[in-house]
Amino acid sequence: MSAGFDITSLNKAQREAVMCLNGPVLILAGAGTGKTRTVTCRMSALLENGVAAENVLAVTFTNKSANEMAERVIDMVGKKRGKALTVCTFHSLCLRILKRDITALGYRKKFAIMAGGDQTGMIRQLIVRKGGAKINLKPGEVMSEISKCKSAGKPLTSIQDDLVAEIAVAYQNELRAQNAIDFDDLLILGERVLREHADVRAYWQDRFRFVTVDEFQDTNGLQMQLLQQLVAAPYNICVVGDDDQSIYGWRGAEVANILQFEKFFPDPKIIRLEENYRSSQAILEVANGVIKNNTGRREKELRYTIPGGDLVRLVSMPGDKEEADWIVTEINSTREDGRVLEDFAILFRTNGQIRVVEESLREAKIPYRMVGAQSFYDRKEVKDILSYAQVIDNPDLDLPLLRVLNTPPRGIGNTTSMAAVEWSREKDQGIWKTLTDEDFLAQLSTKVVTAIRSFIEQAEKARRRIVDGENAGVVVNEWLIEMDFIEWLMRQCKTDKEKDTRREAVSETVASITNAIKKGKSLGDFLDRAALDTDRDDDLDKKSGVTLITLHAAKGLEYPVVYLVGLEEGILPHKRSVEEGTRDEERRLLYVGITRAKERMTMTYCSTRVKWGKEEACEPSSFIPELKEDWIQEEDYDDIMGAEASDDELRGFFSGMAAMLEE
Ligand code: ATP
Ligand code: MG
Repeated sequence: MSAGFDITSLNKAQREAVMCLNGPVLILAGAGTGKTRTVTCRMSALLENGVAAENVLAVTFTNKSANEMAERVIDMVGKKRGKALTVCTFHSLCLRILKRDITALGYRKKFAIMAGGDQTGMIRQLIVRKGGAKINLKPGEVMSEISKCKSAGKPLTSIQDDLVAEIAVAYQNELRAQNAIDFDDLLILGERVLREHADVRAYWQDRFRFVTVDEFQDTNGLQMQLLQQLVAAPYNICVVGDDDQSIYGWRGAEVANILQFEKFFPDPKIIRLEENYRSSQAILEVANGVIKNNTGRREKELRYTIPGGDLVRLVSMPGDKEEADWIVTEINSTREDGRVLEDFAILFRTNGQIRVVEESLREAKIPYRMVGAQSFYDRKEVKDILSYAQVIDNPDLDLPLLRVLNTPPRGIGNTTSMAAVEWSREKDQGIWKTLTDEDFLAQLSTKVVTAIRSFIEQAEKARRRIVDGENAGVVVNEWLIEMDFIEWLMRQCKTDKEKDTRREAVSETVASITNAIKKGKSLGDFLDRAALDTDRDDDLDKKSGVTLITLHAAKGLEYPVVYLVGLEEGILPHKRSVEEGTRDEERRLLYVGITRAKERMTMTYCSTRVKWGKEEACEPSSFIPELKEDWIQEEDYDDIMGAEASDDELRGFFSGMAAMLEE
């Protein structure tokens, strides 16, 4: 029997939250006050009070935080009891629900998830098909229109622009025809199947009798409705959040959910936590000074427990290359004080800022890991490999099958694929079935038939080997070798650098499948997680090194030393926020960024920055005047470097003198 959680590690208000196991609980508190620690202890308290782990669900914002929370609870209550807990994101919760119950909504049981590049590709095709090749519509914009409309529960025909509406309808039909769903559908169908089917609802309500939601401020209307379907009287639901850290307004998150919790779940116990255990006083003073400028927020206490601390530094830089190099040099020299690379995080507002820092880190041979930028699983070569794995795991999924049918080219061209799609529609069957359908094959040339047969045979061989117990990673890898995948991929690369990254991505993907299987996961589980991955995680994230992370992805995390780069007008606040009137949300992002730091916080801004290959002048962020002067130390790159240079010169001068005297 493990020790359980240590009640003395909690303050009075936290203990109160941990003890209150029944009925609705709302924990409303500022950054770093131990919200996550409290709900984690609360989950272990549930288990210690005899609640079965199967009945406990915790919803978090990223897979990464879900993993961390699950690990912490397991540490407290032991593997045996902890393992059966469900700790996941809203999307993976819905995936679970739909895997069991999607047939109630008329879908076939085995469905595919359409996301990332596949989704953009499909939209791009539809734009051309419906609007002609000359039409100037960006797939990303169309996608976000569709997503907004779907999440708001409105019919796609209500989209104002006629062409976009037409594309949206075609897109949805196409998904439906392929028995595929996108990320929005996951939530929409998850909620719908609970709402429309009493038996399904009863099953899941009974399954998850105790529900916890971390980062509740970022739930949107649909997620709130899902919770209402899932949680029945006596409403054993505990939510924690901080309205000052609501940073997903652009995705439809509604702070109203937290501010009006009482409306949805009656008579909640409301608990406030007011002591910050994470950051030094200096860091907190600056954070509080910034967030105070937001209007319409709930005033709340946030007191430091670690007095004083190093002043927060604000450093002006001539350009982004200097910014990156300076940080890297500093990390290198601070390491000598006994810090490890994992202590450092570099925070960004936009993906465009990351490349130059990556470059400096590489030059200095400092390992790093990246979180929240372009999803690893969305890279083309990674997608290809995962699709191969999917074809092996589940040949009934049309999407991955179509993706790899002629990748690398094996003589099954577009015309054949289209014919297979048409045939499958007519017969109402999957593409795999069509490809093995003698009537279909009879109309093709012998050459094409041979190519198809050989592909099917290879896939079946791979499937048999896995069924016989071989590691799927090894099997996939051997198939890739057999088809000369790497050679084909290398031929598409323009530079040696591109070759290296893509080759690395291939071996990382294969390795992550192999490791997952070694750890006892099934290939299907692994693929589900990869499909839902929005913030590269799993084994890949366990890589050590400095963390490069977007402000959005940094939520909930903490690091001893933090650099926030690019505190410039147009970056933070982002230029879109001016047009869209979301300056307050940008300020919350800055607040989230500052409150990630435990000991040392440095913010930098540049006079010039290279954008799209062109050097552009930059203005300091209009948030800078909001930083509390008493707790800020301003520095200038030229002064710092100048001082160092003259030291060196002096040393050079004296050693020269000494040398002369010795002669
Ligand atoms: P965020 O708003 O960023 O999500 P949070 O409120 O969830 O923060 P935690 O991450 O749970 O805060 O805790 C912040 C830090 O404070 C952690 O390092 C945690 O271990 C520590 N901590 C929490 N409660 C206490 C306590 N009572 N005594 C000492 N340290 C604590
Ligand atoms: Mg937290």
